[in-house]
Amino acid sequence: MSKRIFELAVPKGNVSPLCEICGNKATTKCDICRVTHYCTQDHKLIDSISFHKKVCKKLADIRSEHSIPFSEADRIADAKALLQSKQDVLKLAETVSKKWLLERKAMNAYPSAMIAWNMSREMRSEDSSEVIYPTCLVSEMFLRLGDISAAEQYMVQASWISQKYDVLPHSILSKLYRIRGLVFMALKNWEQARTAFAEFAYAVASEYGIADVRLGIPYGLLGLSLLKFDNIDGAMANFHKMADKWLDNLLSQYEVTIMRAATETEMAADEEIQELEFQFMEAKIVFELMYEMVRNLEMNDVTDLINFKILCFQVLAEMREGRPQAVIVYKEEALATATRTKQDKAVPEKRIPVLMKILGGDYLYLWERKHNRPRTIATKYLERIKAINV
Ligand SMILES: [Zn+2]
Ligand SMILES: [Zn+2]
Repeated sequence: MSKRIFELAVPKGNVSPLCEICGNKATTKCDICRVTHYCTQDHKLIDSISFHKKVCKKLADIRSEHSIPFSEADRIADAKALLQSKQDVLKLAETVSKKWLLERKAMNAYPSAMIAWNMSREMRSEDSSEVIYPTCLVSEMFLRLGDISAAEQYMVQASWISQKYDVLPHSILSKLYRIRGLVFMALKNWEQARTAFAEFAYAVASEYGIADVRLGIPYGLLGLSLLKFDNIDGAMANFHKMADKWLDNLLSQYEVTIMRAATETEMAADEEIQELEFQFMEAKIVFELMYEMVRNLEMNDVTDLINFKILCFQVLAEMREGRPQAVIVYKEEALATATRTKQDKAVPEKRIPVLMKILGGDYLYLWERKHNRPRTIATKYLERIKAINV
């Protein structure tokens, strides 16, 4: 099939090509596909290291002018294939930029976020519901780069598109409310942030049910916004909900020893696994924020227990990522917090064996000594563990 390369980035007429990333006048292009243009070497470089390789071939195909097939059926098939290719690029760009954002490399998220945004608008209309998520990604990318006013503009745009629809899927609403909350938080508009995170939690619960671990992050974020209202009880209640969800989730993985080493570059092929991996990465970020804010409260009586749970999460998280040095540090901190906390009654007894698995026999010893318990539970579990080891 003969293909003539034509430049899609070139609007009709005699206008110079535009940068794939920022839309400025282009001066250079990818030497391989020759259909992807950049304003500067900087934008070319950041795209080549963070995204372009994954789509170079596909973009060459999408942006090359194919000879028009003779039959109607072939024309339809061609159009379908083209749409599918664009859909693939969009999906990949969304996933890649999300991944960079969660890895806290916002600059690397720039090209893929912009390409997702452009591709979604090119495929549909500018205000189609499919444009909402890419717009949220661009907003988040600017937020992480510290450009709050650009983040706000894109967030407002995403909200504006959503208002054109009477009904939107929960999966889209949850993404929209999440970014609304994050941007309002950055703007220190706590009232709006709280409302957005409550809506975020509602959308996630409607989609997955209240038992799902994905409800953890909205709870945590809602708690953070409540803390800004000095609603400490409300904040703590939400923090505990998040911590319990994640401890249960990671422990169920721990039980079946799915301890996989973190893969730095490759992404899971399975969408569901990828989604949960993203949840885990974001949970780590939210727990870190929570830990910092909780420490600043200087209210040990109220916060020891949540600190303890967060530290247990961190122990499990580091185990999962295969970093024994960090495991030891968090373990010791968790034990120190456990020694101090007066809220042990709030740790249900059924959790003890589980916590013992995380923190070892030292934790149980502390617990029993504090509660003046005969060492029955300890003996039982130690025997059981011995039996397993033999
Ligand atoms: Zn540029
Ligand atoms: Zn290329």
